[in-house]
Amino acid sequence: MPKPSMSNPLGSKSSGSASSGSRAAGSGVARARGRHFFANPGPTNIPDSVLRAMDRNSIDFNDPEFVEVYDAAFHGVKRVLQTEQHLFMYNASGHGAWEASLTNLLSPGDVILVLESGYFSEEWASMARGHGLEVRVVEADWRRGVDIGEVGKALAADGARAIKAVCVVHNETATGMMLPLPAIRAAIDAAGHPALLLVDTISSLGSLEFRMDAWGVDCVVGGSQKGLMLPTGMSFTGVSDKALAAHRQAKLHRFYFDWTMMANRVQKSFIGTIPVNIFYGLRESIRLLDDEGLDNVVDRHARLAEATRRAVQVWAGNDGPRLFCLSPERYSNSVTAVLMPEGFNPDSLRKTVRDRFNVSLGGGLGRLGGKIFRIGHLGDLNEPMLLGALAAVEMGMRIEGVPHARGGVEAAMAFLAE
Ligand SMILES: *Cc1c(COP(=O)(O)O)cnc(C)c1O
Repeated sequence: MPKPSMSNPLGSKSSGSASSGSRAAGSGVARARGRHFFANPGPTNIPDSVLRAMDRNSIDFNDPEFVEVYDAAFHGVKRVLQTEQHLFMYNASGHGAWEASLTNLLSPGDVILVLESGYFSEEWASMARGHGLEVRVVEADWRRGVDIGEVGKALAADGARAIKAVCVVHNETATGMMLPLPAIRAAIDAAGHPALLLVDTISSLGSLEFRMDAWGVDCVVGGSQKGLMLPTGMSFTGVSDKALAAHRQAKLHRFYFDWTMMANRVQKSFIGTIPVNIFYGLRESIRLLDDEGLDNVVDRHARLAEATRRAVQVWAGNDGPRLFCLSPERYSNSVTAVLMPEGFNPDSLRKTVRDRFNVSLGGGLGRLGGKIFRIGHLGDLNEPMLLGALAAVEMGMRIEGVPHARGGVEAAMAFLAE
């Protein structure tokens, strides 16, 4: 049973703001003119060439022309995951792939260990409880993330080997924090623990460095609408040989997401109609990633993220908004969460920025609602797009009278021009 909080995890938390910003007579929301600048951490901007690639009539998914597109996209996703193991894809948003990872690998009453990172680790854990799993949590301050030593301790203390899976959100989209997967893998290995490693890469894949096979990840959860620059609606799981073996013993109820059933289909990895238009787009977005080179994609995200942080660090003067994440080595390169000064509402700032400058920013999720805003800097993005969003935030703070030190955009420009 989904909780209300799961129904729209990425939606605006400023209820009613969609229509209250209207300045036009009659119905509809008045928008500032010019291009809509989308600076949310998901969904993300869809490149024009991806939109063009999807703009076509339906085609039979067994048509040889489509099978070629499917194969190219399927193998492209495996390349982005950096795996030579298995891949299953779903007509579902990321939540569907979360559900697939749990129900295909676990049995009622199994214990999983969830590393607390923020809203998304909480939601994955609550889905697991909903499926009858016992969830143990390595607790953490959302501004710093887990102490990896505590992960090792929790596993070492599990002498009976009851823990079947360790669940980690690689990039916590709600807080702007990335967790070090190689260190987590090393902690599992050092404890000699056989648990599977399940990783949510929904807001890191195609943006931050990720290596499924080299990092020993058993199940990777990914989605279409973040680093892969596509519309929402398609998600997938990369699955290791070890995980596939565990799947054969797993007894949680599943049907639509069942890997065995999928593997037996002629057109592998889908049950039901394949979203052909998304696949045309996916083939194109993979081509864009290949063209730029994955390493360069990762470097670009690192550069744009650092520019964003430099802007925020300047704004933090005069008791202004500051970086939410307090662990510099864990700063996310795909999203920056900004903590508002006490007494100032981030959603009112977001509304001003949207109404006046046509820029969309992310809000705070869960317990961070009304406390932070988030600047997404992932996917199809370059320097002027980022600077436009940062300038809109800085102007918004002037308009709203939010205390800050001026010159954040200047600092971002200075960094990007280095
Ligand atoms: C966006 C996101 C999700 C949820 O994905 P949906 O496609 O909205 O279902 C899960 N985990 C992380 C880390 C995300 O960023």
